[in-house]
Amino acid sequence: MIARMRCVQCQTTLSASATVCPACLSKDAESFSLPSDGRLLSWTTIRRAPAGYPVVAPYDVVVVELAPGIRVTGRLVAESPPPTMGAHVKSVGHEDGCELFIVTTL
Ligand SMILES: [Zn+2]
Repeated sequence: MIARMRCVQCQTTLSASATVCPACLSKDAESFSLPSDGRLLSWTTIRRAPAGYPVVAPYDVVVVELAPGIRVTGRLVAESPPPTMGAHVKSVGHEDGCELFIVTTL
C-alpha cells in the first residue's frame, strides 16, 4: 500500500510538504492508503540526472493511475521491463520521497 495524507475536513489529498489544506485551509490531516498497483499513464526517460540526484541515468519517471482519478508520480526501478502505455505496474517501495514501481505485465 502507498501511504498519503489527506484533509480531515474536505478529504483533499495533500502534497507531502503541505501544512495547510489548499482547499479549505484546515490544518487537520490524516494518513490513508492507496492501492499498490495500477496502470502506467505516461513516462519520460531522463538521460541526464540533475546534479546531486542519487540515481544513475537513464531512468524513467512515470505517472501511474492507482484508481480512477488517483494518480501518482514515481520512478521505475532499474530492473523493470521497459515501460509501455497502459502497462500494469506495482509499487515496490519508495526512496528519497520517490515512489518506486516495476512493470509487471505489458
Ligand atoms: Zn480541506
